[in-house]
Amino acid sequence: MNFSKRNFIKVFSLSTLSVLTNFKYLFAATKKIINQNLTNQQKDIMFNQGTERAFTSSLLNEKRKGTYHCANCGALLFDSTAKYDSGTGWPSFTEAVPGAFNTKVDYSFGMKRIEYHCANCGAHHGHVFADGPGKTGKRFCNNGLCLIFKPSE
Ligand SMILES: [Zn+2]
Repeated sequence: MNFSKRNFIKVFSLSTLSVLTNFKYLFAATKKIINQNLTNQQKDIMFNQGTERAFTSSLLNEKRKGTYHCANCGALLFDSTAKYDSGTGWPSFTEAVPGAFNTKVDYSFGMKRIEYHCANCGAHHGHVFADGPGKTGKRFCNNGLCLIFKPSE
């Protein structure tokens, strides 16, 4: 190996490293753990695209009036008026608070689904489907562990 080739490789690996470092920085800037008390299971769902087991959420039978917030950052996500029993085993909503979520197409598990995440902190919450009963036609299928319910009365 002559000197110029070695030099080229050195420059090339340095620039690759810098791209990776910047990427990591961007990733960290859009997805961040704010609540330091999140459990490992919550972190797995919110930051590693995990899913809680069906019919395990304590919020499934929650029927009181109130609001649902992001367990990581506290942002307002759903009003209790949008909640309904979808029978799927996950807390389900016909609509989200406007601007509460951003979405992206998720191709994992050989399916094409629309994943949604908190617009404020980037935490993954669930998937939205087009078979909802309300006038929006949407079904937000949310992991209960990502939500904090605040009763209004
Ligand atoms: Zn959040």
